[in-house]
Amino acid sequence: MEFRNKRILVLGAGISGRSVAGVLAGQGGLVTLNDVKEIDIQKAEFQQLQKLGVRLVFGHQRETLLEGVDYIVLSPGISIYIPLIQAARKQNITVMSEIEVAYQLCEAPMIAITGTNGKTTTTTLTGEMLKAADKAVVVGGNIGLALSHEVMGVDHAGIVVAEISSFQLESIIDFKPRIAAILNLTPDHIDRHHTMDEYQRTKERIFVNQTDSEYLILNYDDVVVRTMAERAASQILFFSITTELQSGAFVKEGIMQIRWQGQTHPICSVAEMKLLGRHNVENALAACCAAFLMGVNTATMSAVLQHFTGVEHRIEPVSTIDGVTYYNDSKATNPESSIKALESFAGHVILIAGGRDKNTDLTEFMTLVKEKVDHFIVLGEAKERFSSSAQRCGVTNIHQAASMEEAVHLAHQLAHEPQVVLLSPACASYDMFTNYEERGRVFKQLVCRLS
Ligand code: ADP
Repeated sequence: MEFRNKRILVLGAGISGRSVAGVLAGQGGLVTLNDVKEIDIQKAEFQQLQKLGVRLVFGHQRETLLEGVDYIVLSPGISIYIPLIQAARKQNITVMSEIEVAYQLCEAPMIAITGTNGKTTTTTLTGEMLKAADKAVVVGGNIGLALSHEVMGVDHAGIVVAEISSFQLESIIDFKPRIAAILNLTPDHIDRHHTMDEYQRTKERIFVNQTDSEYLILNYDDVVVRTMAERAASQILFFSITTELQSGAFVKEGIMQIRWQGQTHPICSVAEMKLLGRHNVENALAACCAAFLMGVNTATMSAVLQHFTGVEHRIEPVSTIDGVTYYNDSKATNPESSIKALESFAGHVILIAGGRDKNTDLTEFMTLVKEKVDHFIVLGEAKERFSSSAQRCGVTNIHQAASMEEAVHLAHQLAHEPQVVLLSPACASYDMFTNYEERGRVFKQLVCRLS
């Protein structure tokens, strides 16, 4: 696809939108960057965009923006259902997501990873395995700078590993990753995709352009994901923690292994892996499939798995004080994620939870709290509902804290070996923090001050 001299309207002026606008202008595109909100851009960045000839139109999204436009590029946060896109479709203007631009500009083979949960962990882990095998790797997508910006830094000899959200798949055109992976599919973002069927169809677009020259990695244990194989032209590798497979990665007698073209290659034992939790075994198996297809040997995969402790804010070990390890799982912004975290420990957890309540059912979460948690420290707006729900489920040792500082100090007073302290809030962070990252960082600072 040619961008030179094309009139391109980029919608959404967040980090990603600004970044892709700059990239397209650099390719000779005649770019307008639009946002319905007034966006405050730092002076240096503003000057840089102006130098590239990017026209900025903020504060409205009127149809006049479509005049003469050849392509519309959507930032990941922009829905295809907004009126301007409906109008653009009527005028036969080509609409594409930012990852389509990345794909068009990328010289390197791409590994694209999607799913409801585990994308960041699997993408990062795959990147680590490729780096350990001395490949030139770019890891990106979904967060931070636009993927289209990142891919400019790698040529055909490199590899791009990208985390892809379903929103970005809504408007791809030619996007065809060398390797695609779908980790799992649970109801999420249904508000934007309207129905589960539509959400599934959107995720399946990750392999829609693949042929039998490309590969598709699918979760065998997720029935919905497993059956996607029937609709793919790609070569399939499954991964499973429960079933021995003919093609793909699985666990047998505690050993992770990969089988491909009739040959079986042991990787390492689950017990040797640093990452905690069953869900992370799934992520590791998916990463091993992708790395294997890119020529990484199993010894290298094993070495990475024995060192990789995870991504920041996801059951991240912070420090061990007097035999008690503190974990930051601030990314757990709903009970399902905190359930995954609790399942990762044998028991004896001092759990810090609470924040902005999402008012979802807590029964399953509290049942697990009763089983695994020695002391339950609650804070934030959710503290009353969490306390009473815990009481109803028979949880004892419930403590209310007025701040994160108080929660950490209390945990420190209560905790003794072999207990662990886990921040896994099961809530959003906005009642006390800007976002979950800030919450996690504050927790880590407080923990580090203890030691
Ligand atoms: P994403 O990028 O898709 O949000 P992350 O790797 O950031 O995923 O993990 C976010 C949370 O999702 C984790 O804290 C954990 O609770 C949960 N999770 C991670 N991997 C899986 C998985 N394979 N299956 C189910 N839940 C998972």
